[in-house]
This record gives sequence, structure tokens and C-alpha cells, in this order.
Amino acid sequence: MEHKINAYNNLLELVGNTPLIKLNKIADSLKGNFYAKVEGFNPGHSSKDRIALYIIEEAERTGLLKEGSTIIETTSGNTGFSIAMISIIKGYDCILAVSSKSSKDKIDMLRSMGAKVYVCPAHVSPDDPRSYYEVAKRLHEETEGSIYINQYFNQLNAEAHYHSTGPEIWKQTNGHITHLVACSGTGGTISGTAKYLKEQNPDIRVIGVDAYGSVLKKYHETGELDTKEIYPYRIEGLGKNLIPTATNFKVIDEFIKVTDEESAHTAREISKTEGIFAGYTSGAVMQAVRQLNEMGEFKENSNVIMIFPDHGSRYMSKIYSDQWMNDQGFFDSKNVEEPQKIEF
Ligand code: PMP
Repeated sequence: MEHKINAYNNLLELVGNTPLIKLNKIADSLKGNFYAKVEGFNPGHSSKDRIALYIIEEAERTGLLKEGSTIIETTSGNTGFSIAMISIIKGYDCILAVSSKSSKDKIDMLRSMGAKVYVCPAHVSPDDPRSYYEVAKRLHEETEGSIYINQYFNQLNAEAHYHSTGPEIWKQTNGHITHLVACSGTGGTISGTAKYLKEQNPDIRVIGVDAYGSVLKKYHETGELDTKEIYPYRIEGLGKNLIPTATNFKVIDEFIKVTDEESAHTAREISKTEGIFAGYTSGAVMQAVRQLNEMGEFKENSNVIMIFPDHGSRYMSKIYSDQWMNDQGFFDSKNVEEPQKIEF
């Protein structure tokens, strides 16, 4: 008798096809209907699984990657985790050049996933030979048969979302979508998704979420890179101090900026009201939607799709640590819930 086993062949078959989840309590007082595309459901817990898999499989198709090849990237974040995970399954070596600013947790996590991690000094200019950009470039040149993902300047990044995230949202909404609100870091998610959706319906409004301290919003409005806009901020993965060529500014109608503090509180609120354990930038998207609501962007029949890029578990020592929130001064404002005190 034949026994049919219902199993996936490996983790990679689970990349993409993430659920769209209606937001109930947190969106209660807003005009319109709000749905989150929860990318934390990817096996690597973020939207970066999509681009890593797409870019790697494209390199396999064109013959750049062969068995035992090396994949190189400059990231300690979600992309690094996705590349490490895929490398294990497909049998590649994974080298990640990261900044010494990266938390120990993140470096440990990448090493646990089999990546070779080079920690490079954070406070040197990008063209310094010790910078993680230069180290990655040098390793790529020196390692025969290697590929460099280079997500900020790789057109395949947006293409991955054009072929997956965009069609998924169109299908999940049966075309009843009026707004797309998404973070912009490399710009791959918003550019690829928006391009696909606008090809189906050019009236869909696309709003990018940027950070204070980043140049993207100003560049979109003026076409100039204004270095006066640049200063340090805490949200990771959102905004940039340079213009990524992976971003297609033409398909984005508007950018809106959000603060570190409000985004952190809003992420915590999503977790507590919806039970969706939200990453920092999911809080940023929700905060942007609240601001857009105040600005009169939505009508009662608006169907707003928000992309929640990753999972809250990546931020245990940041926004989900009361100590960290306190150290940032984020509990200072009066109308915010104080951390719980445990008494024995
Ligand atoms: N949120 C998080 C947590 C991220 O890691 C990234 C990727 N840098 C983004 C949002 C932005 O996505 P994209 O790079 O596709 O613009």
C-alpha cells in the first residue's frame, strides 16, 4: 500500500504567499478598511526571503551560481538571515560583512545559521578599505565563483516583489485595493509591488514610509540628495542616507515620515491589540497610516493594504525591552503606558 506523505520538500517552498490579515481593534477609529500583509509568516520571518530566493535562483538560471559557490552580502539584518537560510538548503557558502554597530544577538544568529560573518568598523567612510562595503567587494573579487547580492543597487530586488508580492495582493483583494502603504529601505518591496498593482489599476495610491534622518522623502519631492536631512535614527531597515537605485520613485505617489518613538509604541500596540507580533517597521507603517488618516487620505470604502515586513522576535532587546524603551526616553511622554512592575 502506498503511503502519501504530505510534506514540503524543504523550507523554500514556504517562501511567499503570506496571509493578508484584517486589522480590527487598532484600526477601529480610522476611516476605511485596513489589512496587513504579514511577511513574518515567511520561513525566515521577513519579506527578504522573497528577494534572496529570487536573486539566488536567477543567478542559478544564468549559471553564475554553481554547487559550492559563495554568496556575499553586506547586512546584519533580515537579508542576511534569508541568504544564510537559503545557502544551507541549497549548499552554498554564505559570507556577510556587517558593521560593528550590529548587535551581538544578530551576529550570533547569523553564525548559528552557518554564515561566515566579518565584523567591520562602523565609523569609517563607505570608501574606506575597512568598511563593510569595501570588505564585501574585495571578498567578492577574491572569491572565485561568488556572487554579490548588493540589494540596494540590484534591480532583481524590486523584480522579486513584482513577480510575487504584487500579484499576491491583487489576488487576495480581488482587485479591491485603493491604497498601498509600505516602508522604503532599499525600495525593493514598494517599487516592485506598486509597479505590478499600478499596471492593474493606475488609480491605486502608493505611499512610502520614510524615517526622520533619511533622504528619501526629500529626494522624491526635489530630485536632489540633501545631506542636511541625514542624522542618526533608531528604526532599522527603513529610510537611507543615499539614493538606492533599486527604488523606482516614479511608482510612489508620496512619502510620509514617522518618528522612532511613535513607531516603537505603535509596534507594541499592534502586538497587544491584534496579537500580531510586529517588527519595528510594521509599527512605522501603522503609524504612517494613522497620520494619513488625520490628513484625510482615506474614505469609508478605502481598502488599505499595509506591508508588515518582519517579525517582532527580531527586536527583543530593542522595542520589546522595557529597559531599552526607557533608555531611549520613550516612556517619558505622559499618555504612554508605563512598563509593568513585578512585585514579590
Ligand atoms: N523593514 C525591515 C525590517 C527591513 O529589514 C527592510 C529592508 N531593509 C524594510 C522594512 C524595507 O524594505 P525594502 O528594503 O524592500 O524597501
